[in-house]
Amino acid sequence: MDRGSSGTTKIGVSAAILSVGDELMLGQTQDTNAKWLASRFATHGVLVGEIRVVLDDVVATESAMRELAARYDIIVMTGGLGPTEDDLTREALRRAMDVSEPLEVDPQALADLDRWFLDRGRPMTVNNKVQALRPKGASCLKNILGTAPGLFANIGAARIWCLPGPPREMEPMFDAQVAVHLPTVAMSTAAVHSFGQGESFLAQQLGSLMLRDRNPLIGTTASGSIVSARIRGVQDAAKAESMERAMQEIEKLWAPYAYGRDQETLAGALGKLLISRSERLSLAESCTGGLAGSLVTAQSGSSEWFAGGAITYANVAKMDLLHVPHDLLSQHGAVSAPVALAMARGCAALLKTEWAASITGIAGPNGGSESKPVGEVFIGICGPRFEAVRRFHYPGDRASIRDRSAKTALALVRFAILGKDAFAAPFIWEWSK
Ligand code: AMP
Ligand code: MG
Repeated sequence: MDRGSSGTTKIGVSAAILSVGDELMLGQTQDTNAKWLASRFATHGVLVGEIRVVLDDVVATESAMRELAARYDIIVMTGGLGPTEDDLTREALRRAMDVSEPLEVDPQALADLDRWFLDRGRPMTVNNKVQALRPKGASCLKNILGTAPGLFANIGAARIWCLPGPPREMEPMFDAQVAVHLPTVAMSTAAVHSFGQGESFLAQQLGSLMLRDRNPLIGTTASGSIVSARIRGVQDAAKAESMERAMQEIEKLWAPYAYGRDQETLAGALGKLLISRSERLSLAESCTGGLAGSLVTAQSGSSEWFAGGAITYANVAKMDLLHVPHDLLSQHGAVSAPVALAMARGCAALLKTEWAASITGIAGPNGGSESKPVGEVFIGICGPRFEAVRRFHYPGDRASIRDRSAKTALALVRFAILGKDAFAAPFIWEWSK
């Protein structure tokens, strides 16, 4: 149920996360609890409608509790349950519940606290006792890994669970004591990943698939130049089918840029193709210094389709290892189409592979010129009856130029294997002067 929130999911219960702590607001601690909880909720088919972070302040905490309770069925809050002056969750909860009586001792929680200190042979300081306090009408939740018990209460029609801040205490408490109260309908999520085009272009390709009232719901994200379509829907047999249909539609609209789903990587997708053809790859890298090879070998089982590579940074390495002719280098420079092609040819010959890709470019920030600016990269591809060089111009700093170059090389080999049409697909970083 959604009680008046503007969230997009109207199915099942609605939930919010509340994180408390000065350290979160000061940028000293990352709110990893919210991230962890949100993904746990998602596995229960609950889309978190809101994540709030407040200071260790009783008024701020109380009003956040009230506001969230008015809008959501479930609130999970973390932090502020310890024994010190800045741990104000118990008091804020009392106020949000409109309980006028002072906090009262929970006998079981006090006994658990006594036991905790007894087991460790330590005396319990007086301030520790406050952890056994709770508002009238709330109940305490056992914490076997720390001293602070959690709290459960109703605020109006909403249910709130307050858990301790330390993730190693909070996570098992959520799994054992909160998750059991959540629905069991699983929300299924899936992703289709692509490389080579920008997010706005790709989103436009999806057209009405991205309408916000669809089920399954589709959105896009971009990270490390990989643009992904994220698909989520409530899982039952019919929906599972429509998830699959949605993914196939996206893959079709994003061809040839879409390379895989969920955990699939660019290198993994290329590997599958090569394995199916019993062919192998080698890499000749200059400005990427082994980055493409690293992406490939991060893939378990890549020895089946990857022979190795040569990091030929200096001209002498390009000549000695890959037999790039001296004349080519002096005539065109190391960053040029003829040298890229010679590197790929030399690499395929050196390592006796059907396919080879080469990368030579200017990663910057120094070394650019008017005619060869920073970000200019040539990628050569050699394959059975196939040879091509493509010229790119990547924006960004050294790290992102190198990262995009390495990924483009892998994507280009994949396109070359897929055929002429795929190889003709432009990249967003294609040289356009
Ligand atoms: P507290 O329960 O407020 O005393 O929090 C104790 C400790 O838990 C803090 O010092 C943080 O290290 C950690 N912590 C609290 N809240 C979070 C959060 N939202 N995400 C990650 N760690 C947290
Ligand atoms: Mg705290």
